[in-house]
Amino acid sequence: ESHFTLREAAIPTPGDGEILVKTRLLSLDAANRAWMQGATYKAPVLAGEVMQGGTLGEVVESNHADYSPGDIVESSHGWQQYAVRKPDEVGKITLRGELSNHLSVFGVSGLTAYFGLLKCGRPLAGETLVISAAAGAAGNFVGQIGKIKGCRVVGIAGSDEKCAWLTDDLGFDAAINYKSTKVAKGLAEHCPNGIDVYFDNVGGDILEAVLFQMNLNGRIACCGAVSQYDTGTPQPGPRGVPGLIVVKRLTLQGFIVSDFYAERDQATDEMAQWLEDGKLKVAEDIIDGLENAPKALIGLLHGENIGKRMIRVA
Ligand code: NAP
Repeated sequence: ESHFTLREAAIPTPGDGEILVKTRLLSLDAANRAWMQGATYKAPVLAGEVMQGGTLGEVVESNHADYSPGDIVESSHGWQQYAVRKPDEVGKITLRGELSNHLSVFGVSGLTAYFGLLKCGRPLAGETLVISAAAGAAGNFVGQIGKIKGCRVVGIAGSDEKCAWLTDDLGFDAAINYKSTKVAKGLAEHCPNGIDVYFDNVGGDILEAVLFQMNLNGRIACCGAVSQYDTGTPQPGPRGVPGLIVVKRLTLQGFIVSDFYAERDQATDEMAQWLEDGKLKVAEDIIDGLENAPKALIGLLHGENIGKRMIRVA
């Protein structure tokens, strides 16, 4: 927390063609930490800059014909209460359900789960799907979508409470607490037919344990590597690479959710239908106050959250 400072500044004034956005909700993401490390898909956050982050906000002043006060927009103006934006830096939101749903199920978390699983994991009914960080923002949706697609779903998460939530509330077939059980042993017990699809949120030792139990022609959706973000010395890589990839004919496919945004509307429609049919549940973990963002991010990296963590800024 000592690496963050809260600074007060005048509310900026929008120029010609610009809008002033008041932040309502701020997304907290494991990726916030990776952006500080650099070496990701976007420019690193540097010391002294406003912390980056996805936001949902309300237009409070507009000098652009397409925007009016009261419009809700998604933006990525980071950890601040107000920001001046150009129209190409925001997207107008048509509200479905609660505003917070546009950071969870209809936002990056839900879309990451949807596209990562269906485009990269390509699960078939009857196959075994394993998910790490399974009780997190993206992970819990991956498992629920896997159940909708008829898979045997096994989650890996960091507490007994999370594991019970996955099996009892979300219908996962099994869950492994990686802090109290050896992952390889848990997988051998709960994946008797091996693993066909792995949705990898964490990298590191858990990826290694899964690799050894993947089936022939298995698919790994490489979503993130949260086990390596909060360290200055990331592990060089799991054992078994490339040998196991060759012998088992595995496909490891990395993706960034926005790669699939051309199909975003169809994905959102389908998830809205699953919600309406009671096939999908939404878990949100909302914390009040921008001043609590640093503590809440550190807590997320330590596994405090169940579902999508966000900050209610206003
Ligand atoms: P999240 O799962 O809500 O939160 C992170 C979770 O990671 C924590 O709750 C914690 O749960 C788990 N974790 C932390 N350290 C760990 C470790 N050393 N080993 C295993 N698990 C650990 O976060 P999220 O936003 O959904 O992100 C999940 C992953 O998806 C991240 O890697 C993120 O970078 C990635 N992501 C990728 C994209 C994309 O477009 N490719 C988009 C969004 C997110 P436990 O209690 O289980 O430890």
